[in-house]
Amino acid sequence: MRPHLRDLPIPQLPAALADAGLERPAWWAQTLAVRMHRHGATSWEDLEIGRRTRTLLEARFRFGPLLEHVGERVAEDKTRKDLWRLGSGEIIETVLLRNKVGRTLCLSSQAGCGLGCTFCATGRIGLMRNMTAGEITESIVRTQDVSGHRVSDIVFMGQGEPLQNYDAVMTASGNVNHEHGMCLSRKRITVSTVGLIPQIRRFTEEERIWRLHLSLHSAIQETREQLMPIAKSNPLPELLDAMRAFQQRSGRRWITFQYVAIPGVNMDSAHIDALERELAGINYILNVIPWNETGVGYRAPTWAEVKRFTTALRRLECPVKIRYSGGKQEGMGCGQLSAEQVEVAASGGHLLAPPGIFTS
Ligand code: SF4
Repeated sequence: MRPHLRDLPIPQLPAALADAGLERPAWWAQTLAVRMHRHGATSWEDLEIGRRTRTLLEARFRFGPLLEHVGERVAEDKTRKDLWRLGSGEIIETVLLRNKVGRTLCLSSQAGCGLGCTFCATGRIGLMRNMTAGEITESIVRTQDVSGHRVSDIVFMGQGEPLQNYDAVMTASGNVNHEHGMCLSRKRITVSTVGLIPQIRRFTEEERIWRLHLSLHSAIQETREQLMPIAKSNPLPELLDAMRAFQQRSGRRWITFQYVAIPGVNMDSAHIDALERELAGINYILNVIPWNETGVGYRAPTWAEVKRFTTALRRLECPVKIRYSGGKQEGMGCGQLSAEQVEVAASGGHLLAPPGIFTS
């Protein structure tokens, strides 16, 4: 099958266009990249090219919309969730949240997820397929289109484990970062992983790297395995070594650990002791995310429990942030809307995977 133009890394566009027979391929590469990634072109007509150029391109490439907008919900706090159907029928989502300077878009990288984290409704569904780089970047420009807001930050924290779809996520992020793409600073691109050691090491060696957040959720190996089965093959000591190497290579003073707080699982003093012991010597920020009810067997913490936990965390002497799940009251917090949609999917003939964790 001919490649889709949107799937190509921008740096490879000039050579691909030269092969297709275009004169001035570098100029065309810049023009097409800007129109696709910045102006949001999703059809040949949107690209505004002449007939001869289009004929040459069509002989080598596909172009056209990759996503169909199938639903939206906007919460009182303006958090917005959009549902998109991929060409092969699976449904993925984007969540747009306000931040201090603009809008953060929480992106999906896979339809479903095969890692089976026990606190995440997506884990019940399994992996349907990886998204392509083009589908990922189109989900950004199309969200801008339907929301009327420009995206200032992206974070891979929706459906799927981004480092399991490594090449597509890196290509999409590269195009978002590229000066002829969306031109978003690398500081505004975040990949959040449950902790796949080989991929973290590979990421660390990349020429251009983005922010990397680790879903830690516990500094006790047994609890990590209970929450994230993939932790069995990615033991904590090696994982923390990989994160230290990333911190050194990226020159970042702080690295961020996500911590989904679940009463009776990881909020007791033994878990705080483990954080103090295992993370000693690392400069880190701890993002505490009160778990949202998604009907997968745990209990959401009360506000008093979250306060008690974060107060006890003070002795770690690291910045602790409580991450607010945007739109929670409208059923749009982690897994909530999707949990509804799983029922829809069961009766409606297509699958809809719920998100991982997303926060503002
Ligand atoms: S938390 Fe992330 S990695 Fe784990 S099952 Fe959910 S989507 Fe997959």
